Amino acid sequence: DKAYLNAFLEVYEDEARQQALLVDEKLRSGKAGKLAGMVIGIKDVLCYKDHPLQCSSRILNNFKSQFTATAIQRLLDEDVIIIGRINCDEFAMGSSNENSAFGPVKNEIDPERVPGGSSGGSAVAVQADLCLAALGTDTGGSVRQPAAFCGIIGLKPTYSRISRYGLTAYASSFDTIGILTTDVYDNALLLELMAGKDEYDSTVSKNPVPEYSKKLKFKDKANIAYIKETLEDPRIDSEIKEKIKNVLDFLKSEGHNVEAIEYPHLDFVLPTYYILTTAEASSNLSRYDGVRYGFRSQNTKDLESMYKKSRSEGFGEEVQRRILLGTFILSASYYDAYYTKAQKVRRLIRDKTLEILEKYDFIALPTTPTTAFKIGEVKNPLDMYFEDLLTVQASVAGIPAVSIPVGRDNKNLPIGFQLMGGYFE
Ligand code: GLN
Repeated sequence: DKAYLNAFLEVYEDEARQQALLVDEKLRSGKAGKLAGMVIGIKDVLCYKDHPLQCSSRILNNFKSQFTATAIQRLLDEDVIIIGRINCDEFAMGSSNENSAFGPVKNEIDPERVPGGSSGGSAVAVQADLCLAALGTDTGGSVRQPAAFCGIIGLKPTYSRISRYGLTAYASSFDTIGILTTDVYDNALLLELMAGKDEYDSTVSKNPVPEYSKKLKFKDKANIAYIKETLEDPRIDSEIKEKIKNVLDFLKSEGHNVEAIEYPHLDFVLPTYYILTTAEASSNLSRYDGVRYGFRSQNTKDLESMYKKSRSEGFGEEVQRRILLGTFILSASYYDAYYTKAQKVRRLIRDKTLEILEKYDFIALPTTPTTAFKIGEVKNPLDMYFEDLLTVQASVAGIPAVSIPVGRDNKNLPIGFQLMGGYFE
């Protein structure tokens, strides 16, 4: 009865029932894993052997995963039950889940509104209680922003905390697997079970994995900085700013230290993010050429027209826009002006952010500049990119960040409070 939400692309009904029977048996014999019976869904960018994988794109029509992502294997080893593959923005590019070849996902709180993106389906699957937890991916906010729009918890771990083996690449130096839940404990437990070194991903951190689920109480008084600009910026919804101020006041009244800081780099974060991610995307997505797998256009006359038509017909508009932008940025005459420069600015943003985190435990800010907007309402791509204003800083810096629901606006739409922390904190 919740099919109208369009959250799942495919439900593994029989398989999930069979898995449930197996888990029952393991429970009886006392051999069950830590997640015995936990029902989860996975975003359609994560490989699960012998199951279709499409990244919500036509270009991967009829493609099946050849192997299972490390993160998913680790959950399966703990007896999780995967009930299906979840809708998202095509190749995780978007902030509203409107860029799916399979139609938009709807926000259960108001089905005329978007759930956010790109892991919008994952957020709605949890919001609508279709599963207990869902995996998404967060390259620039794709777990935190939909969590905020849907009133649930969304965690983007430190870059490299969880293996990216089996996560379809969008922008490799930003991509992280993220976790959507309604409960902090579930989120921490899933992180702890997925994280850690992996021989299949040479970029994954070898840092030992703490038992996050046992560290949920923050013992001392926290030292919290909030970015002054984000609570003054007229482009950010005033009800959101008000709510975040209330939360900060509450934290202060609980005895935490809360101080305003300045972050003059705020306006450079979005351009830096979009220059670097489109460049990486144009390179990563060059493998989808209609030759070896996925969609191939039928009306072609030679090799070149096969490449062109397959890619033009297989990719949606936003993905094509980003490939074009990224290819331009990486072209010989513009490489230094855009790509090299953005790399330098990335370093500045990271350094400044880390400098703040040397003095403070957390940086607090809203997750999003608006609450959930109507499907079709944001038409200009630049306006859509603006939705990521407050989530990309953590992505550019590679630090962890979480969005926590803290209330609703006057339209009853959820508001997210975001906390960023230092590496591996
Ligand atoms: N909305 C951002 C983008 O479109 C973030 C996407 C993501 O984190 N995958 O790039």
